[in-house]
Amino acid sequence: MAFRTRFAPSPTGPLHLGHAYSAIVAHDMARSQNGAFLLRMEDTDLQRCKPEWDAQIIDDLTWLGLRWDEPVLRQSEQLTAYDPALKKLAARDLLYPCSCSRADIRAALAAPQEGVAHEVYPGTCKHRPMSDRKPGDALRIHLERALDLLSDRDVVFRETGPRYEGTHHIDPKQALDEIGDIVLSRKGEEIVAYFLASALDDVAQGITHVVRGEDLFEFTQIQVILLALLDMPIPTYHHHGLIRDENGKRLAKRDDARAISKFRAEGATPADIRVMIGL
Ligand code: GLU
Repeated sequence: MAFRTRFAPSPTGPLHLGHAYSAIVAHDMARSQNGAFLLRMEDTDLQRCKPEWDAQIIDDLTWLGLRWDEPVLRQSEQLTAYDPALKKLAARDLLYPCSCSRADIRAALAAPQEGVAHEVYPGTCKHRPMSDRKPGDALRIHLERALDLLSDRDVVFRETGPRYEGTHHIDPKQALDEIGDIVLSRKGEEIVAYFLASALDDVAQGITHVVRGEDLFEFTQIQVILLALLDMPIPTYHHHGLIRDENGKRLAKRDDARAISKFRAEGATPADIRVMIGL
């Protein structure tokens, strides 16, 4: 199968060195394999994503010399595209409505959860049937039930990144302990959330290799679980190392100090950026 990859930023801030690295790695992999490189804006969070950031990201990527082989896909322009998948999961009794706020979740957890990178939902609304869904409720996956349905299958994904290279088998216990019942459709907006939208679009765009930072590795298993539940093909993943600041901290969206636009304003060339990120 011809190699197809993508860069999938969320336009909630400027493109910084970390994004540039990710985009260039994916782009260069595609070019070296005679494959395709696509650009997808993951902008379903209508509060935080801004058209100005979208435009700036495109301008910066173009300045860096990157070209994509198909028109940019914007998730905000196809918000109903995710409904069939949500319906299918609901029909298999794998979703439940949730009205918890972040404060409710924190109160129910009482103590911080050790060793997990994100809060595992404590299950407050787990007993609620879909028929009880109120306007404004989020939808969560009932992960135990989902894993039960997959229990007679060995669900695997292939990883080619330096840190986790190999074949990974989904470990139900680890998924339950570390990921839990994530939100698939956000509270108050009836809009699909990142995990599902991103995995579905990888399939819809025919992505054979998902190239992205290793900070997203731990979420790969939930995306693979979702694809398996929906009988969809599972791409190969390549999680690359992260660009860190001088203190070893990974760069964040808010890191305007390392925004590509700032380096551009100071007269840097695209070649200088490649040197800065070690390429
Ligand atoms: N949109 C996600 C982000 O900007 C990346 C998603 C992905 O590459 O799978 O963090």
